[in-house]
Amino acid sequence: MTASTDIRRIIIVGGGTAGWMAACYLSRFLKRTDSDITLVESPSIKTIGVGEATLPGLVRFIRNMGFDEREFMRDCKATYKLGIKFKDWIRKEQDYWHPFGVCGGIIDGMDLFHFWIKANRQHDESYSDYSLQALIAENARSPCSTEDVSHIMETGAYAFHLDAAAFANYLKGKAVSAGVKHILAEVEHVPVNEKGEIIQIETDSGQKHTADLYIDCTGFRGLLISRALAIPFTEWSDYLLCNRAVALSFETDKVMHPNTCATALDAGWSWQIPLSDRLGCGYVYSNAHKDDAAAVAELMEFMSDHHAVNQEPQFLSMAVGHRQQFWTGNCLALGLAAGFLEPLESTGIHFIQYGLETFMDYFPDRKLERSLIDAYNDRMKIAYEESRDFIMLHYLLSQREDTLFWQNCRSVKIPPSLQKLLSLYDEAGILEGLKAGVFPDTSYFHILSGGERFPRRPLPMVNVSDQDKVTQVFENIKIANIAMMKPLPNHKKWIELLNNKQGSR
Ligand SMILES: Cc1cc2nc3c(=O)[nH]c(=O)nc-3n(C[C@H](O)[C@H](O)[C@H](O)COP(=O)(O)OP(=O)(O)OC[C@H]3O[C@@H](n4cnc5c(N)ncnc54)[C@H](O)[C@@H]3O)c2cc1C
Repeated sequence: MTASTDIRRIIIVGGGTAGWMAACYLSRFLKRTDSDITLVESPSIKTIGVGEATLPGLVRFIRNMGFDEREFMRDCKATYKLGIKFKDWIRKEQDYWHPFGVCGGIIDGMDLFHFWIKANRQHDESYSDYSLQALIAENARSPCSTEDVSHIMETGAYAFHLDAAAFANYLKGKAVSAGVKHILAEVEHVPVNEKGEIIQIETDSGQKHTADLYIDCTGFRGLLISRALAIPFTEWSDYLLCNRAVALSFETDKVMHPNTCATALDAGWSWQIPLSDRLGCGYVYSNAHKDDAAAVAELMEFMSDHHAVNQEPQFLSMAVGHRQQFWTGNCLALGLAAGFLEPLESTGIHFIQYGLETFMDYFPDRKLERSLIDAYNDRMKIAYEESRDFIMLHYLLSQREDTLFWQNCRSVKIPPSLQKLLSLYDEAGILEGLKAGVFPDTSYFHILSGGERFPRRPLPMVNVSDQDKVTQVFENIKIANIAMMKPLPNHKKWIELLNNKQGSR
């Protein structure tokens, strides 16, 4: 490769989380190549920021970018997230956990889950009873100890709740000081040549900008990938029924648990996401089963013991699915412009990061080699499909019959990939064929066992292990988890300390 074919100029359109994550990431990893990165953002089209929950990959992103985690947390109104507590999904008054991290431990190279199945422990306890993260979250402790070290901090098996608009603003400061050019203007025209490549972008102020690569971060509207390049959308409304959301904010709870709560309601589910200054809350629902007014009324009733901070509900329509090509010619789509799954498992911001990291694996030169583009698109498609199947599981395992929505959720089409996954799991707890790794095997074990779906028999290899040793391991895990949880501070106090700057370094 000669230097003359290097990608030199990159234009990012859109200044939400996707746009500014891309700006930070690319400016950091391309800094030795003398690239010129410009972000164009509309001054009037708002970004999405409803109080977002994230996945542990974001810890890696923050560390790789060289950001100070405490500064990031303060500026983005962040709190810790150790997992999700699902309430009323299987039946009313029944909860289950999806905590992050290894659950208990690995015995002879196998997940504790298989030994738990063999010992028939599911009759009197949950698999998540062995999770350190679930224990800490239940007890409203912070994973960060006052000495700044803890098992969870060291392994990075935690995530954050954050304000996505504040996160975008934080990233903007970092990107601009790293040399990214920032233009406030609305892109009006995006002419395309006969090869299906973008020629330039034209703004409302009459300016024209050209680049070797264009990154579409314009949110659901997909200005470049959809409106200009007409890449079709693969729609998944046959699989996932929720297509609408309403967001509201409430005063923070007296007790702040470091986890997201997802509570099943009549026609979908409600998220409660603790931020440092408020409780982000909303209702994701199917508008075929509930209209907007009824959804707000149900949400307000559900949250009646809380004080609303902002009474103006924010309604959002959600197109569930993804672009048939995430990268085409000289245009890459990221964030909501690339695709969207309902936020049940916090995949939105994760997909931006996953897209950027994958793009770096296949980073092109100006030849824009077709095989790189195909490989990228294949990997992104797999990541979206696996995540779709994972989210579908939550609905398919529900035993609720009380509303038409919950009845309909179980009569949706089941994709062959999910059928295949379930048939192996049902036989002996085997999980095979998960290529993208968006969620580790442990996550599937939490959701499946939490939904009372157990394999017919244990994994054959568990019979080879020394059973006395296994029994001892089970006992030791609970003792060790309590010992690790005890010195940890109260989560709410920790967050207050952090924001009073006394916790700053
Ligand atoms: C109800 C809901 C709940 C969610 N919850 C979560 C969650 O818990 N966890 C999670 O990870 N994700 C969640 N998400 C997704 C997450 O909010 C987004 O993935 C993330 O904020 C990225 O958004 P974005 O940057 O792609 O788009 P946006 O925030 O919509 O930003 C689009 C940008 O494009 C600009 N723009 C648009 N048109 C033009 C134009 N013509 N010219 C110039 N600029 C333009 C806008 O000004 C804006 O800056 C949720 C989404 C929704 C809808």
